[in-house]
Amino acid sequence: MKIEFRKIPLNSSEFEIDSNSVKFLGTFCKISSKLAKIEGDIKGTLDVDCCKCGQSFNISLDETIKFLVSDGVYSSEDEENVVIEVENHTLDFNEVLQSELESLKSEYYICDTCKKNNDYVEIEY
Ligand SMILES: [Zn+2]
Repeated sequence: MKIEFRKIPLNSSEFEIDSNSVKFLGTFCKISSKLAKIEGDIKGTLDVDCCKCGQSFNISLDETIKFLVSDGVYSSEDEENVVIEVENHTLDFNEVLQSELESLKSEYYICDTCKKNNDYVEIEY
């Protein structure tokens, strides 16, 4: 789902997209000529790799996200908000979702087997 930046409504509007096993839904609106706001939830399952054994496994997602989208380079300083810069004056929800999923994937995850092994080691001590 894509929308031209200048066509983003001033009134809060709903969006919903699906990507594989993930659903991204919420509201978006324009807050200035170069800035829009997205608030939503990411739900579903995500394939991640165990940081110990490399085994891939599923985690369930239930993330609430909130950020600003800037049409082009965002120059003002804003430490309170996450700001995503978009190119070509187009807000692409799939792109936003993919970058969110990439950052979720880059966190550390441990599979159940390694968790159990960890517990076992702790018991042994
Ligand atoms: Zn593991």
